Parts: sequence; C-alpha cells; structure tokens
Amino acid sequence: LRGVVAVDGPSGTGKSTTARGLAMRLGARYLDTGAMYRAATLAVLRAGAPLDVAATTADGHDDVVAVVLGARLDLSTDPAEPRVRLDGEDVGAEIRGSEVTGAVSAVSALTAVRAHLVAEQRRVVDEALAAGAGIVVEGRDIGTVVLPDAGLKVFLTASALVRAGRRDAENTAAGRSGGPDVAADLARRDTLDSSRAASPLRPADDAVEVDTSALDIDGVLDRLQDLAED
Ligand code: C5P
Repeated sequence: LRGVVAVDGPSGTGKSTTARGLAMRLGARYLDTGAMYRAATLAVLRAGAPLDVAATTADGHDDVVAVVLGARLDLSTDPAEPRVRLDGEDVGAEIRGSEVTGAVSAVSALTAVRAHLVAEQRRVVDEALAAGAGIVVEGRDIGTVVLPDAGLKVFLTASALVRAGRRDAENTAAGRSGGPDVAADLARRDTLDSSRAASPLRPADDAVEVDTSALDIDGVLDRLQDLAED
C-alpha cells in the first residue's frame, strides 16, 4: 500500500485490531488517533484540570486546552509495536483504563483540542507518505475531516451486543476491569461522540460500510485487504 486507508467507526467494532492487522498485511504504517485523544486526556487528568465529562460543547475550557497543547505526545507508527508516550513516558496501558475512558469524550469534544491533534495526525501521515510508505489511520473522523482525500475509507459497524462483548473480552485479556457496565459505557461514549458539535462520528459519503457483527477478525481483514488492493 502506498496511499492512505481511513478506518472509522464506534468503539467495540474491532477497529483497532482491524486497522493494525490491515497495516501488517499491507506492509504499511499504522496510526491510532484514539490513542492520541486518550493520552491527551491522561495529561488533563494528571494536571487536575476541571472537566465536565458529560459535555459535548465545542468551545471554552481554556485550562483543559492549555494542558493538551503543552503535552508532548509521541506515537510509533510501527503496527508491530504501536507505542504511545506522554512527555517521554510509555502510557500505553494507562490510557486504556476506565478513568481515561470515562473522560476522553469530553476532552475530544473541544474544537481547540481537535485542531491541535488533527494537525499532528496530518503531520504523521505526510511523513509516512514522504518516506514512500502507506498508512492505515483509525479514528472517528478520519474519512470526514482529517484525511478526506484518503484512497480508501472504511466505516466499521457492529451490533451493540457484539460491541459490548468484544470490549469485555478485551478488558479481561488485558487483566483490567472495564468498570461496572461496559455496555452502558460504550453507549454513553457513542452518544457523546455522535452528538458533539465538533466533528461528530459519522461515515463519510464515500466510505464503504462493513458490518463486523458476524465476521471474525480474519474475515474482516480479508474484506478490507480486497478493498485496499482493488
Ligand atoms: O478509539 P478509541 O476508543 O480509543 O477512542 C477514544 C475516544 O477518543 C473516542 O471515544 C472519541 O471520543 C475520541 N476520538 C475522537 N476522534 C478520533 C479518535 C478518537 O474524537 N479520531
């Protein structure tokens, strides 16, 4: 792959596993933009900046924005080892915890936070393309906002039941509690991500929608590889 594949969709659709696996199959780089919003959120929590976790507003919260703009995020784009560093520290495990998961939608609803991280995402992609590599980028707004010229846009979906089951299995495998109610948390985050004013979650007009409910990971990867190599 030489160009860009955008993989968007709600949580629990197998987006990360799929996007990363696709990058491996295609010999491409991989960028997890959710990890960037999560690391930015961890910075906000650590700084103790006040946060209204039910907020979907796009503006204000200057103190939160200031923390995000001041945080140093480093992401490796190697799909075999997708590391995330916040101010030099590997935070790959901590950003998946329930504290960050509970707060990330509020941080990512802020326009100034998005503008900052989107610019960074485009920089990473430009760097990969300049090096002659392709890149698979996953998130919520990649096909609609970040990379509207992506050669292939995929929007993954899955039934609510399947998504909650997958997230549960993921948490168990990582030895982590997903919190009292994984299904309710996913539903809450989907509502916030889809109803926010800034870049709400939705498929791009030219995205290929793939329902992963009845597919295993290899089934999804076969389908995406076909689309990417078309
Ligand atoms: O994909 P993941 O579940 O790690 O994303 C965490 C959160 O980051 C999402 O719930 C969403 O609020 C935010 N996000 C976003 N835009 C992206 C990627 C993630 O708003 N491109």
